[in-house]
Amino acid sequence: MAAQLSHRLPTTVTPERYAIRLTPDLTTWTFTGEEQVTIHIHQPVGMIVANAAELAIDSVSIKDAKGKLLSGNIALDHDHERACFSFPADLPVGRSELSIKFSGILNDKLHGFYRSTYKGADGKEQPLASTQFESTDARRAFPCWDEPAFKAVYQVTLVVDEKLTAISNAGVIRETPLPGTGKKEVVFADSMKMSTYLVAFIVGEFEATEPVMVGNTPLRVWAVPGKKRLANFAVDIGKASLEHFGAYYAIPYPGDKLDLIAIPDFASGAMENLGAITFRETALLVDAANATRAELERVADVVSHENAHMWFGDLVTMRWWNGLWLNEAFATFMEMLAVDAWKPEWRRWDSFTVSRAAAMQVDGLKSTRPIEFPVEKPEEAAGMFDVLTYEKGASVLRMLEQYLGADAFRDGIRLYLQRHQYDNAETTDLWDALEDSTKQPVRALMDTWIFQPGYPLISVMKEGKTLVLSQQIFRYIQDGTDLARRWHVPIFLRVGTRGGTVTKTLLMTGAEQRVEFSDDIESAVVNAGGHGFYRVRYSAELATALKGGLAKTLSAVERFGLMNDAWATTLAGPTSLTDYLDLIELLRDEDDVNVWTTVIGSSHHLARILDDGQCAELEKRLRALIAPAVARLGWTVKAGESELASQLRGDLIGALGTVANDEPTQTRAQELFAAHQKGTDDVDRNLIPALVAIVAHTGGSDDYEMFSRRFKTAQTPQEETRYLFALGNFRDPQLIDHTLDLTINGEVRTQNSPYLMRGILLNRHARDKAWVFMKSHWDEMLRQYPDNSIPRMCEGIIGLVTKELEADVNSFFAKHPVKQGSKQMEQHLERLHVAVACKQRWQSSLRG
Ligand SMILES: [Zn+2]
Repeated sequence: MAAQLSHRLPTTVTPERYAIRLTPDLTTWTFTGEEQVTIHIHQPVGMIVANAAELAIDSVSIKDAKGKLLSGNIALDHDHERACFSFPADLPVGRSELSIKFSGILNDKLHGFYRSTYKGADGKEQPLASTQFESTDARRAFPCWDEPAFKAVYQVTLVVDEKLTAISNAGVIRETPLPGTGKKEVVFADSMKMSTYLVAFIVGEFEATEPVMVGNTPLRVWAVPGKKRLANFAVDIGKASLEHFGAYYAIPYPGDKLDLIAIPDFASGAMENLGAITFRETALLVDAANATRAELERVADVVSHENAHMWFGDLVTMRWWNGLWLNEAFATFMEMLAVDAWKPEWRRWDSFTVSRAAAMQVDGLKSTRPIEFPVEKPEEAAGMFDVLTYEKGASVLRMLEQYLGADAFRDGIRLYLQRHQYDNAETTDLWDALEDSTKQPVRALMDTWIFQPGYPLISVMKEGKTLVLSQQIFRYIQDGTDLARRWHVPIFLRVGTRGGTVTKTLLMTGAEQRVEFSDDIESAVVNAGGHGFYRVRYSAELATALKGGLAKTLSAVERFGLMNDAWATTLAGPTSLTDYLDLIELLRDEDDVNVWTTVIGSSHHLARILDDGQCAELEKRLRALIAPAVARLGWTVKAGESELASQLRGDLIGALGTVANDEPTQTRAQELFAAHQKGTDDVDRNLIPALVAIVAHTGGSDDYEMFSRRFKTAQTPQEETRYLFALGNFRDPQLIDHTLDLTINGEVRTQNSPYLMRGILLNRHARDKAWVFMKSHWDEMLRQYPDNSIPRMCEGIIGLVTKELEADVNSFFAKHPVKQGSKQMEQHLERLHVAVACKQRWQSSLRG
């Protein structure tokens, strides 16, 4: 197995405790460090192998049992990111202390120990340093055993400028000035036993909220100067979710304090470093009085997600990266639970259907992957942070929870955490705990969802008193492969019979299942409640029965499922475009924001596929559908209306003014936005994103200038990104050129540029230019942008829907492979192919 495991460290020597002292220099962007690592030598070895990357190692020595110091030779293996320390004689079995001196750089790639900047009150750029170690970047900050199974204790000391704040995983024991140097030494307590990827160091000028006690844990939110005023909402959900998880898991929070820290440059959304969680500013700092409901929900989601990780991920950790889903799917599932408990009026599990649908979209491709699959190299671990790990993973857990019952499921989770705390675990350990706790065949059920890619389409028909169900893999492109694949499918039935409504839950394991009822069947809902990770195709008569009284027979989540499944089969072929457009016309009276989300999403998708003439016809039909709904809701908030209703108004007006191209709506939106700018009209916060989208869609250079200014002078992170990303939605070619320049000219943070670029690729008026630009600046983008953002940016290629562009895209990526996201790239290319096939198939549809 040696060849296969070439990236894995030997287990002959393991770390127990690191004492790390780092001195970062924020003017030269470098750091020096030393560490004493208490190690356990399990068999006599002459060489110790650990991970190191982009580090210079000056010296290494080891203290033997008698206290004698032996110095070692250092050899660096750059390809495998390793340091090999060899000693003149074999080291004896037992405990020993390894001392290493090293130095490194504070890089600008937003991983390892890296630099960030922000504007101070005087407008001058100020430096700070932060870390991002997951998956394999702790090795850029200190030599270490950088695999999740090598858990150890960390005692950190940071030497920093006197005026700066230093934060790490554990609480500060003491701060001592170092006279004559302008520096101080900040010594932190020992951390709990944990994996390297959870270690964190943050250094800079920061302000904190007053600590709030959650049990024995002081909770604070940190931000760069001037932004503390945006921290209160995060404190509230931080406290609520920490309390929620303590009770749910029945284990106290494992750290000694909890800091939530907003970092101005951040590659992902947030990172669950134990006790020192880092966030991008939009995911933590928000003006609760002026942000939209969706923006608040995002902060609540991310804070809850990271807090959930303190147990799921930090206390119990996957043994290796193949088990990443154990961390991420659970944190995503728990995030919904906590937010739903905190604000039930947001109906968080209902809006989760939108995330589930996003996972089903990718998982319906031939190029999908199982939730868990073998991982060896660092870039393969990096490729696992996707919609299948997070959203599909969370969806199948929700399906399991609903099948087992919420309390039984929770008890199994408690048992799992109890058994494996301060240690590592594998997927099989979770099934053991759930089976022991529930006595149900959890493993057999879940193995079909975790180790097998894709999901089934359940076809359903009635024969008198019998309901006939069958399963077959769902694919956007049916090529006849994998037809024998079967899942253990929890089926949630609600069947209308002559004798009344019958609900039933069953587990379907074979290709076909017949379910008997005592009376003749009149209607049937399969996947009642919408928790199942599958699609449903009803026979013609059952479909007619459902459509007859949509709002009366189906819950909002079930209507979402019906529409979303229909859209999927439209892309796949069995449903014609005309039939789909006829179906969505049944939504005239619809008032659920998520149902409309799937319809509006499919409209934008259609607009990227269809030609100009077809788009004009589509716009006409969308106006006929959406205008009455907007008329019903009005443009202003009604007394006592729910936040979801306010959000729906914004979403519908936004769609009417953009993808439905309704001129009166556009005029009114422009007027309202101008009044809002002048402060003469108090526009509802949930309407503002719609006005911004419409003004960008219709606007000229004056609007562009104004958006540009508002981006640069924004008062909140949400406002900043709203105006920035809107710059990608203008239609004028010169303005598009200007936005394209912004993606690489240094005016936009590299944490945002890739997503701006993705937006321009998805703008049908800009996509040709955007593609030419991306090809010609590809190397520049790779140099500037964080590695994890490249495959996400490339999602924009799904908008390049012509046969010619598709061929060009394929040939470009054949020559320029994206190694950290090869699976996602395959999926983007297949999604593009599905869209191009639709374009061909719909040539003669929607002609006026
Ligand atoms: Zn996570």
